[in-house]
Amino acid sequence: MRLLPSGLVLAPGGRLASLAAVNESISERLYADDRVLVDKIVTKPLDNNVFLLSCAASNKSVIIDAAADADRILELAAATDVRAILTTHGHWDHVGAAAAVSATLGVPLYIGSEDTELSGLTGTHPLEAGSIPLGDLELEIIATPGHTPGSRCIGIGPVVLTGDTLFPGGPGATADAAAFAQIMESLDTRLFTRPDDTMVLPGHGLHTTIGAERGSVEDWRRRGW
Ligand SMILES: [Zn+2]
Repeated sequence: MRLLPSGLVLAPGGRLASLAAVNESISERLYADDRVLVDKIVTKPLDNNVFLLSCAASNKSVIIDAAADADRILELAAATDVRAILTTHGHWDHVGAAAAVSATLGVPLYIGSEDTELSGLTGTHPLEAGSIPLGDLELEIIATPGHTPGSRCIGIGPVVLTGDTLFPGGPGATADAAAFAQIMESLDTRLFTRPDDTMVLPGHGLHTTIGAERGSVEDWRRRGW
């Protein structure tokens, strides 16, 4: 059984029916200020992080990577006014519940256009570089090709959700040397241009900061593909 570190809270509607149910209902609030809230659950089988990013003032939200387990994602989001599902990239483990959650909530599903085919999803909308309004917030959509051609990161204030583009300890996997060069270019020009205290929330595993990773970037480049 997993211990409950401080900061973990039960998702809206979380039940105490059994220990297993408690663990499965848990969401973690990773970030909160007076404008933005970011909550996370982890789904099987590949420990994908599913995020709920909410505007504190309007309660409008987006789900980022509806990876799997639609019921838990709906529970995570139930107390908010979900406007869309945003997808960091088209790999199967990041989109497993996307169609079901989109249909249940009646909200559009966005993915980088270069990854639409890869995802196997239909009826999606293109998630392109630029900004998307969410209540009082403007989400920054950042094109970061490399892990996949259509990879996107999502920035809000001092937080960036990086999908499989940047993890603690290095970039995401790439298919060949050219894709590795591309992901390093994305890191150099789109992510490590941000302040050191920027919080990095990847698509799997624990979070980090730009400052904690910055000193390793040249090692990653030397190590190469
Ligand atoms: Zn991936």
